[in-house]
Amino acid sequence: MNSKEYKEKFNAKKSPRQAIKMKCWDCCGGNSEEVKQCTCKDTCVLWPFRLGKNPWAPKRTLTEEEKEALVTRLKHARLASETPTNLGSSEQL
Ligand code: SF4
Repeated sequence: MNSKEYKEKFNAKKSPRQAIKMKCWDCCGGNSEEVKQCTCKDTCVLWPFRLGKNPWAPKRTLTEEEKEALVTRLKHARLASETPTNLGSSEQL
């Protein structure tokens, strides 16, 4: 990674969650599996926040309708991500 790429990656506007994710990713040499298996529970202040968690957030209880709405939204998001959006793009030619 050159200095321009580094600045773009680390100085870009990001949420605290994204910053923690990047820190863990960097800490584990870019290996996401290592982040999942991190054992530094007693030594790293970021440990409770790994993998997008917030230990201080109140536990969310969903109604059946909310669960169904989430499932539907997830299905649509998965379909959208699997659908090629750049077919016919002039950049592909
Ligand atoms: S939680 Fe684990 S992976 Fe994340 S920064 Fe701390 S030691 Fe590294």
